[in-house]
Amino acid sequence: MSPSAASAAAAAGSFSNLAPSPAAAAAARRRWAAARCSAAGGRVAAASAGPILRELQRRCAAPLPVLRHVADAMAADMRAGLAGDGAGDLKMILSYVDSLPTGNEKGLFYALDLGGTNFRVLRVQLGGKDQRVVDTEFEQVSIPQELMYGTTEELFDFIASGLASFVAKESEKFHPLEGRKREIGFTFSFPVKQTSIDSGILIKWTKGFAVSGTAGKDVVACLTEAMKRQGLDMRVSALVNDTVGTLAGARYWDDDVMVAVILGTGTNACYIERMDAIPKLQGLQTGSGKTIINTEWGAFSTGLPLTEFDKDMDNESINPGEQIFEKTISGMYLGEIVRRVLLKMADVSALFGESVPDQLSVPFTLRTPDLCAMQNDSSDGLKEVGLILNDVVGVKKSSLEARKTVIEVCDTIVKRGGRLAGAGIVGILQKMEEDSKGLIFGKRTVVAMDGGLYEHYPQYRNYLKDAVAELLGDEDSKHVVIEHTKDGSGIGAALLAAANSKYRER
Ligand code: ADP
Ligand code: MG
Repeated sequence: MSPSAASAAAAAGSFSNLAPSPAAAAAARRRWAAARCSAAGGRVAAASAGPILRELQRRCAAPLPVLRHVADAMAADMRAGLAGDGAGDLKMILSYVDSLPTGNEKGLFYALDLGGTNFRVLRVQLGGKDQRVVDTEFEQVSIPQELMYGTTEELFDFIASGLASFVAKESEKFHPLEGRKREIGFTFSFPVKQTSIDSGILIKWTKGFAVSGTAGKDVVACLTEAMKRQGLDMRVSALVNDTVGTLAGARYWDDDVMVAVILGTGTNACYIERMDAIPKLQGLQTGSGKTIINTEWGAFSTGLPLTEFDKDMDNESINPGEQIFEKTISGMYLGEIVRRVLLKMADVSALFGESVPDQLSVPFTLRTPDLCAMQNDSSDGLKEVGLILNDVVGVKKSSLEARKTVIEVCDTIVKRGGRLAGAGIVGILQKMEEDSKGLIFGKRTVVAMDGGLYEHYPQYRNYLKDAVAELLGDEDSKHVVIEHTKDGSGIGAALLAAANSKYRER
């Protein structure tokens, strides 16, 4: 690792998951307004943003040695987490999924997906080996901001009512047989300590959620109680992390899938592990001898090239010192890091002229899809970049030079994120290969990818794939396929609900 990366990583030792609490955001705005009053005189004559950009690029660089260090540290943290709870950054949570979909699953099942930005309800009709997925139908609702800071009952009532209205619209042909309940696979994408396939305790909220009263509770019980309050008689037969759902969904079509990674609002990864490679199980076995481990890799923090902007964002977040990897590579945060850089450039180097627009100092105004739209602007004079800067952060006029600088800043942050995500993936593959030579690099191995960031941001995707190829080298790269599995987690959760159905014919 480069010395700058090492020192940045050391300084970030006490880092983690960021969304502003409303109070922190207001305080930040006040501090900013005060600082601007005293700095206003010097901005006109300020220098170009070049030095800040170059310093940013230097600090965010993730050359091969940094990637290698991150991959090695990821593999080492995985081992520590498998040895004992609390032994490292990675929780390495048991999924209680020890048999993967076979293709024989049949019947009507539901999936409920609570991610970070949206929640989805999905109905899947499974037709067994020949017909596979006969039909799917889904509805998606975005989660109102105030529910992220509300009570457990408010959040789960909102979810249950969405589910109730979805079911209420169904035609008769979807009604369950007399005496049977509709069964759900509940995809819940926050760190949960599973206690069985259909129960698990929330460890903590991430991705900006600060719902009171949920940590320490069984989220299936929370949902079941909310469904009761809605008069909805459904049964959760599988509680599934979104990565686990993605792996199960992708594996349904392709036996070579071994790892699944989510890059959306947040990030996480899971993989198939041998039971005898999990010391903390103390010899416990399952029929297949294998299980899916949910790494919760968002909490990883070793050797990351971080900047003052990352550290400030972390300090002002509702979970300082936590989820550092997630804060560096996932969709919720990339836009915010860029906003912080632009704010400094606007203030110190008059990037947007004499004044700094108020909106630019409001946390989380600039979002990752905005970065993506700006980076993909191919118009003369970068008109789209100008429009976004105007609409989103209130920059009335921007020179072509300034727009180009903005794109370079986006690219720097997105490149770092994509490359570090790639290094994380290689860390997992490396750990699996070390345990069983040839398991990964001796044959075709598929990494199933999903999440809005991976799906919609081509530059991010390419940086990720480049980093994987650089780390693996030509020979091993030939065997590793990084593949997008769209909405695999929904189908996967429904498949796991089917596999764990109360009415399953045995
Ligand atoms: P979740 O993670 O909430 O389950 P998704 O997987 O749909 O949901 O991911 C949504 C996230 O993906 C958004 O928060 C955003 O960061 C990112 N995203 C969505 N659309 C785009 C886009 N066009 N470009 C870049 N990132 C995007
Ligand atoms: Mg999701």
